[in-house]
Parts: sequence; structure tokens; C-alpha cells
Amino acid sequence: MIWTDIIELLFPRYCIICNERLNKQESHICINCLRKLPYTNSHLTKENTIEKLFWYHLPIQRAASYLFYSSTGLREVIHSFKYYDNPYVGAYLARLMALEYNDVGFFKDIDIIVPVPLHWQRRLHRGYNQAYYIAKSISNVTGTPVITNAIKRIKNNTSQTRIEHQQRQSNVSSIFKVIHPEVLRGKHILLVDDVITTGSTLISLGKTIAELNDVRISIVSLCYAGNFFCNFVSENEDW
Ligand SMILES: [Zn+2]
Repeated sequence: MIWTDIIELLFPRYCIICNERLNKQESHICINCLRKLPYTNSHLTKENTIEKLFWYHLPIQRAASYLFYSSTGLREVIHSFKYYDNPYVGAYLARLMALEYNDVGFFKDIDIIVPVPLHWQRRLHRGYNQAYYIAKSISNVTGTPVITNAIKRIKNNTSQTRIEHQQRQSNVSSIFKVIHPEVLRGKHILLVDDVITTGSTLISLGKTIAELNDVRISIVSLCYAGNFFCNFVSENEDW
């Protein structure tokens, strides 16, 4: 106990959003900032906006995103998670999401977790796949295995953030290839990504998987960056 106090004193940690000093119980984000995050509560809403993005495209069972990609602080957190070698803050938020979602049975019947694959060139450049860290956090809570070798990203498409909405659909067609269909067949697969905007990347991945038949698909992401005027149960006024 004393030893941890000394470490805290020598190496103080700060909240990634407000820069206030963290106490011993806090990790990455202080309790005040955590409280103010723009939670979507989409996991509590059947036929929510995230789910509807995938209707008509995929055999979708459930879909939800944990947070609205709306507040400046959160955007910085996700940016740091994606581009600045800080996978642990995303993994931490994903753990909080997994605990909440697990409580209401969101992960019921899920057989395997598949993070959206990065193209090998981008993975090499970034050093890690941020979706993998989210998947791993969910797996740590549910005990469901994470599968990373069944599907390959065969096209290194231009960053989605720089492409107009209408161009996105064509940009993501056939960018994935199933390498080990036997791992996926007959399974309820949870696809995991960091941010959903139009859902086009996940639709492309889901379609590639759905060609196998005999699969069920659910989707979860840490953030939702699409239309904020949607049918979520929201108790948070900050967004
Ligand atoms: Zn803070």
C-alpha cells in the first residue's frame, strides 16, 4: 500500500481529458470526465439507429455503439487511441463498455469476436490494430475468443475520414477476404470496430462473411460518429 503511494507520488498520472491528477482508483480518465462522456445507451434500445444502418445489408442480430463521437475531449482520446501509440485508453473504455453490455446480456450467444482487420501496411505503420484492443477487452470480460486469422483485409483503402459519404460505399466493396471459413461457419460472430460513421466498412466485412451462409452477425463499436438525432435512450445532455 505504502509502496503504491510512493509510486503515485513519484510518477503522478493525469486524466487524458482534463489533465487533472488521477487518484489511485482511476485509470486514464478521471471519474468526473467519465461521468460526462456522451453515452449513447444504444445497447438498451432494440432496433436502434446503429442496428438500422445494417438492416437490408446483413443478417444482423444486435448492434450498439458505446459513445457518441461528439465531445472534443473524447475525440482527442480516440485520436490518441488510433494514431498516437496509446491503445490502453481505448482498451480501458472498451472494458467499461463490455462490463455494462455484459450485464444486460448483449453478448449472449456470441461464439467468437472478430475485430475489423487492418491492412498489413497500415498495421505496420501504426504498430497495432486498435479494434483488436477493443475485442480483447470484451473477451476479457466475456471469455469469448478473439479470432484474427480468419479474414484478411486485401485492400488498403484511403482513410475513411477524408472521403465524401457518397463515395464511401464504392470505396469499401470487396476489401476483405475470408481465409479460414471453417472458423466462422455456424457461428454467431461479433464484429468489433472503434468508430462507426456510415457503417460501410462493417457492411463490406459483414457481406464477405455472410456469403458463407450459416452465420449470424452482431456489431459493436466504441463510438458512433453518424447522425446524432437518433432513437437512443439518452440520459446525457452533453451531446
Ligand atoms: Zn478528467
